[in-house]
Amino acid sequence: MSYPSNYRILVHRFSVSKIHILLPISIIIFIISLHFYSEAGKHLTPYSVHVRGYYRRDGTYVSSHYRRPPGSVTHDAPYESTRNACKTFFFISFIIGGSGIFLFVRAKKSNIFSFYRDEVYQEILNKIEFTPNLLPKPKNLINRKLSKYPNIYKTYYCQDCYNPIKYDDFHYSDLKKSNPNKLCLNCLFKHLDNPQEKEIQEYLLSFYNERKKFIDLFSKHYKKNTKSELEDHDKIFSYFFDIAKKKLIDNSNYGNYIRINF
Ligand SMILES: [Zn+2]
Repeated sequence: MSYPSNYRILVHRFSVSKIHILLPISIIIFIISLHFYSEAGKHLTPYSVHVRGYYRRDGTYVSSHYRRPPGSVTHDAPYESTRNACKTFFFISFIIGGSGIFLFVRAKKSNIFSFYRDEVYQEILNKIEFTPNLLPKPKNLINRKLSKYPNIYKTYYCQDCYNPIKYDDFHYSDLKKSNPNKLCLNCLFKHLDNPQEKEIQEYLLSFYNERKKFIDLFSKHYKKNTKSELEDHDKIFSYFFDIAKKKLIDNSNYGNYIRINF
């Protein structure tokens, strides 16, 4: 089975292009304009008077042609302006119908697929059952994506290397201090004493292992369902964070350290 089905592709094409609305509008405008155009045409005076070819005073030759009888220019003027207005409406109807057709055709299958990708992801998420086997989280190890209240944090900088700490990076924070400094993972292990270092290292190892397991599982399902390789790893990482976070919130320790942290 491949995502999305031909039916979904068609529905998407319609919803993107609004062709089911635009095309009827365009046709209605066209038919109404055509009606007024041909009605006005019936009132136009025919070019019935034959004029023979003659020389103008300056010597230029005017070849023989037909013209309308005298007075018909004034008579025809309102009908001609109606017909000109109709031409504008023809143009408008072509623009409206044409843009509907253009958008319908332009909605490529690949675009449609990316539109439905989140839906596909959600389906896979519902299908797979994954409980990360994470060790208890060391108190001082923080990851804002795993936080219950991630938005209250501002940008952090490592106190050692002054690099910004990314939103989904782990960092270390001495929660015993009221305004604790932060350490990035790179600088973290230089500053820790051994027992704590071991605990944090083991936790990180379990975290990254479980994340890899989750990505592998997800990729497998994705490939089976879509016959294509999973590329958007960041999105899947964030799903893993959601799952891990849920597990952490279930853990009673979680509430304690988060309160200390703000
Ligand atoms: Zn650092």
